[in-house]
Order: sequence, then C-alpha cells, then structure tokens
Amino acid sequence: MNVARILYPVEVLGPGKRLGIWVCGCRRGCKGCSNPELWVQKPEYEVTVEDIMSLVSRISDLHKIDGFTISGGEPMDQPEGLSQLITQLSAYSKDILIYTGYRIDELKKREDPATNIILSRAAVLIDGEYREEENMDVLLRGSSNQRIHILIPEMAEGYEKYLASAHNQIQNFTTLNGVVSVGIHRKGFSG
Ligand code: SF4
Repeated sequence: MNVARILYPVEVLGPGKRLGIWVCGCRRGCKGCSNPELWVQKPEYEVTVEDIMSLVSRISDLHKIDGFTISGGEPMDQPEGLSQLITQLSAYSKDILIYTGYRIDELKKREDPATNIILSRAAVLIDGEYREEENMDVLLRGSSNQRIHILIPEMAEGYEKYLASAHNQIQNFTTLNGVVSVGIHRKGFSG
C-alpha cells in the first residue's frame, strides 16, 4: 500500500484513542482539499500490510487502541491492500472508520471482491466528495453533503451517542517531517 502517515492517539476522528492511517494517492482534486500533499503516491511510502500490522502490534502492546480511522488520499483507490489491512485490523478492534470521496452506491456497483470485503468489515463509512462551499463545520465531515453510514449494526448505539455529544476539534502531531494537523478543518485551511 502507499501510506503517508500513521498516527496514534488520534482523538478527533471518531470515538476514543484511535490509530489513524492516511493513505497516499487521490485523483479527485477537490478544490480546497486540506491534504493536497497526499494526492501523488511516493515510492518511499510503499509499505506492506505486514509492515503496518507490525507497527499496530507494537503500539497495541503499549497502548489501548479503541479503533481505527483510515483517510487519505483516497483509501478506496487501494482496495486490494485495504481489504487485507482491515481484515487484520479487525482482530484488534471492529471500530474501523473509513473516509472516501466515493459514494457508497458507487462502491457497491463496483462488484469487486476486495471492495465488498471492505464494506462488510468497516464499521463506519463517511462518503462523498469534499465540496469547499459546503464546509459548514459538520461533525466528522469536511462538507455537509458527506454522509455517515454505520455499516455494523452493533456499533450503531455507541456511534449515535458519540455523534450526539462530540464536536469537531483539531489535534496537532509533531512528526519528524514537521507538524501534522488532524481533524476537520475549516474552509481555507492548507495543510
Ligand atoms: S477526495 Fe479527499 S484527499 Fe482527495 S482531493 Fe478530495 S478532499 Fe482531498
């Protein structure tokens, strides 16, 4: 997979202390995207699912991982790797939240086994393109056209409580490459 960053603990993109994974590569080119540095894949970002799982295992030995949030870039442009990844992540937590610029009906129409595995294992899918003019500080979503789909019914109650009480926040991580700002950014933010 092509993965630009993995951060822990992410506390602003879903409930609890989560492990966040940002894949690299997106051809959508949304105006006002807060992660344009993740549009073009880079050879140095190539990792195997085993590499990622090794890191997850080491973090999990030291800290509780409440869930996973996978964003980008466009995660659903890497369905083979992502399907393998979330199958293995689900052994740690079933709470896997995925952001995608595709709408769920577009993904279902693919009739692709890897995409079907992702849709069967993801707890939550937040779908739809980012529209800068509809950036209205809606919870967990960059723009108000995007929708939150709770795909695993057992997760619904916990997520509904979280969605009723949470509000958008920004969290900054200091990394070797500088500060990475995580969360739902207001219009005009440039990462
Ligand atoms: S889909 Fe996401 S990462 Fe891709 S351009 Fe749009 S906002 Fe940026």
